[in-house]
Amino acid sequence: MDPLIKCEHVDFGYENCDVVIDVTMEVNQGDYLCVVGENGSGKSTLMKGILGLIKPTAGVLTIDEELKAAGIGYLPQQTAAQRDFPATVYEVVRSGCLSRMGNRPFYTKKEKVLALENMEKLGLSPLKNYCYRELSGGQQQRALIARALCATDKLLVLDEPITGLDPSAIQEFYQILGKLNRKDGVAILMVSHDIQNAVSQASKILHLGQKVLFYGTVEEYRVSEAGREFLGSRREREILRKGGG
Ligand code: ADP
Repeated sequence: MDPLIKCEHVDFGYENCDVVIDVTMEVNQGDYLCVVGENGSGKSTLMKGILGLIKPTAGVLTIDEELKAAGIGYLPQQTAAQRDFPATVYEVVRSGCLSRMGNRPFYTKKEKVLALENMEKLGLSPLKNYCYRELSGGQQQRALIARALCATDKLLVLDEPITGLDPSAIQEFYQILGKLNRKDGVAILMVSHDIQNAVSQASKILHLGQKVLFYGTVEEYRVSEAGREFLGSRREREILRKGGG
């Protein structure tokens, strides 16, 4: 089976300055790939490129045809205005179908059923007619996953999805992603600052430092130089932050 996303020696950048250089990687069906790296290492830029918001300045980026047509299921970092969106949960979820609708100004029965099914899958059916802005942060994230799944159930792309969630909502969020990946076969491509969770949940790691510092399985990453260094430095920072051993 062809990869869902394939980057071959791809560069991305802004105004004549490349900030992501020579990335070769692929996302296949069923993968759970976490992109990790220091701030400014190009993670979000790579995601923007994969989502088609910026064009490669070199190399070849290939996206599965069906994904291209339906729109990649994307979970953005939410702004305050988006958190305050005045629509019902059902309306927000259903809007995930918009990219496949073209100019048609109404939802088909099939699209409405799909939205209801995805709400059920994410435990949102009882909240169907609630206003989105009344939901907790965790519930809003679930609504956004259900929305993304209306575009496609092949791949979810997430950028720092846990910002602003409390610890129990974070755990619940990772459980949902794990279940979607293992039970429903949804591939996951996620930028993560939570390296401990990335290595416990993901199947593959892409470690960026402008160039690719590591790309491979989690098991390989744990024993790689890049992985040992990054995991070690993150642990030290965590200990310092908490104020002792
Ligand atoms: P990360 O997501 O790993 O923190 P980014 O992809 O956001 O990294 O940023 C990589 C580099 O690109 C940084 O040096 C950043 O300043 C630069 N950059 C990000 N967005 C833009 C932009 N819109 N225009 C110009 N430079 C940008």
